[in-house]
Amino acid sequence: MPRIMKLIIWIAGFILLIVLMRSPIEQTTNSTESLILPLSGKVIVLDPGHGGADGGAVGADQTLEKELALTVSKKLQHYLQQAGAEVYLTRETDRDLANDQTKGVSQRKVEDIKNRVVFMEEKDPDIFITLHLNALPSTQWRGAQTFYHPNQPSSKILAETIQEEIKVNLGNTNREALAINSVYVLKHANRPAALVEIGFLSNPDERELLKQSIYQNKMAASIYYGILSYFSESFN
Ligand SMILES: [Zn+2]
Repeated sequence: MPRIMKLIIWIAGFILLIVLMRSPIEQTTNSTESLILPLSGKVIVLDPGHGGADGGAVGADQTLEKELALTVSKKLQHYLQQAGAEVYLTRETDRDLANDQTKGVSQRKVEDIKNRVVFMEEKDPDIFITLHLNALPSTQWRGAQTFYHPNQPSSKILAETIQEEIKVNLGNTNREALAINSVYVLKHANRPAALVEIGFLSNPDERELLKQSIYQNKMAASIYYGILSYFSESFN
């Protein structure tokens, strides 16, 4: 056998040995980490509102609710995953969840919202969070606010813990968590669920904040701390 072949075989064997040695070590490290992470074993579905033809609320500068809702959801997903949670987004791109062949905006909206509930049921998460932005004809209103459906006592606690962290960390709202009956995904969640309206696109100052990456990070982190606090309470 030529010396060069021997050398190649030796190097290949050495690389294989390194790979074999590393694999079990990494697995051990991962399982050790998952034992100590605060959200390990928790499954969470995040629902960025709207998408596709449905842009949601629109700011005076054409900022779209669907885009900011997705951006903040992905930031929140990152925080939750770092803490060991298994996180699913109902959408990861600019699309709705209606079937491709369904025509008409209103028909697509009905199907979209039902399919978000179907998605949630399939993933069977411990909690469900839907993210939206507000807009009203008057520009004066501002401040993030968290909502829950009154049919699920744990949803109230979840919404309150999230709202508390938003108030403390952002320091720009005195709004309290509020019960709401009319939100389909909350009503049909059958588990702790909250709607976070992260701010008003109709308020120029708040809209500018919401467009900033640093403010989006703070918002995502506040919701994340609220979720951590919710799971750290003894009743869960
Ligand atoms: Zn919305």
